[in-house]
Amino acid sequence: MLSTRRKPFPIGGSKGVTLPGGMKVSDEVSIAASDRLLLMDTTGELSEDRLLQFFMESVEPAFQRWLESRKQSGTFKPMEAEEAAKTKPGTVAIPPGFLPGPLIYDVTCPRCGGRFGWDVAAGGNRLYCLYCGMPIELIL
Ligand SMILES: [Zn+2]
Repeated sequence: MLSTRRKPFPIGGSKGVTLPGGMKVSDEVSIAASDRLLLMDTTGELSEDRLLQFFMESVEPAFQRWLESRKQSGTFKPMEAEEAAKTKPGTVAIPPGFLPGPLIYDVTCPRCGGRFGWDVAAGGNRLYCLYCGMPIELIL
């Protein structure tokens, strides 16, 4: 798996993006895309129709859910949204007597141990770990 950031370049009426050199890329690739996301089978093994079906059934709905949670939390950046969606939510108890003010709780992820501040007033008690994407429900 890899992630990278590239600058698209104009090529004819389209735009090109170079693929990382380490990837296996066949003579022909298949692509499925929305106006924002792109899924490419660089082996070209899957037909573009099959890929589009998978894209519409699995990728786009998961992406929309993930994007929605991200908007709710403000700073949500999971690396494994798909995995998170399949994971049963963990729970974290807020210590009693925690004084209200800005309701920022110090949350420690039960899966990866990542620590981050969580604003309950802004984001509610359902969140995703900022590091591993695990769904977490705060017990308030
Ligand atoms: Zn985590």
